[in-house]
Amino acid sequence: MMQADPFAFASLLAEQILKGEGVGKLPIDPKAFARAKDIEVVAKPTSSAGVSGMLVRSGNEFAIAYATHLENEGFENFSVGHELGHFFLPGHMDAVIPGGSGMHESRAGFNSKDRYEAEADRFSAGFLMPRFLFFPATETAGSGLAAIEALATLCKTSLHATAIRYAQCTREPVAVIISVGSRIDHCFLSEALKQASGIDRLRKHEAVPRGTATHAFNQDSNNVKKAARVEESCNLQDWFGGKRSLPIGEDVLGLGRYGKTLTVLHSIKLPDAEEEEDEAALIESWTPRFKR
Ligand SMILES: [Zn+2]
Repeated sequence: MMQADPFAFASLLAEQILKGEGVGKLPIDPKAFARAKDIEVVAKPTSSAGVSGMLVRSGNEFAIAYATHLENEGFENFSVGHELGHFFLPGHMDAVIPGGSGMHESRAGFNSKDRYEAEADRFSAGFLMPRFLFFPATETAGSGLAAIEALATLCKTSLHATAIRYAQCTREPVAVIISVGSRIDHCFLSEALKQASGIDRLRKHEAVPRGTATHAFNQDSNNVKKAARVEESCNLQDWFGGKRSLPIGEDVLGLGRYGKTLTVLHSIKLPDAEEEEDEAALIESWTPRFKR
């Protein structure tokens, strides 16, 4: 059974807010949006790594500070979107700034286990990449890493956030994997890949499987720092096991200062239902039958 997504509400709310404001094209500028709501928005000095942004409240006055240490406009937009999440999501303001005045420090986009942080991240993704604008863009963006890069340019979002949103919104069977060294940070399968018939249930691993382009790439940490890139072909089995051999594309990119590796598995030609039946019939014809 599919597990309900506990944070889906957050991106839906973000999309609802944009629709209510009549926003009809990408990119969304979260700084301009916040300022239009009388929220002060300021850049923060680069000294405090790890903190992506801050929300400051004094009674009914609000300010957002965003970190600039990654020197990445996409990450800054995501950070501002995250603070807007705390502003708009029900219950957040009281939880993150109890008592009506004070400051909340955020760690946006770091896969936080904290419920409010995770929910604000989802709000931000939905706000910067609302499905009603983002999905049509995925249809013409091409495939693999190139598609994600095109979408990130269009939305002014980080490759990391864009890749995750792409896996959530595309019709294509794709997997997006974020890894550090030999460890998989997280792995997102698109709906088409999750629902695929004819392949075994994909087993997600905690370690980057040996023999993959990503495994070789991560052996040299300079690849991440230099934002090196490789595009290779491999097999879905290499990543997820299973009985069926399916050739796929594996694009790998070092995320530079972010210190992580982005892998996109794409061009996955899933067997269609008809091929499945043919194969089943073939297997049956091979199976000897004995009369009792
Ligand atoms: Zn936060």
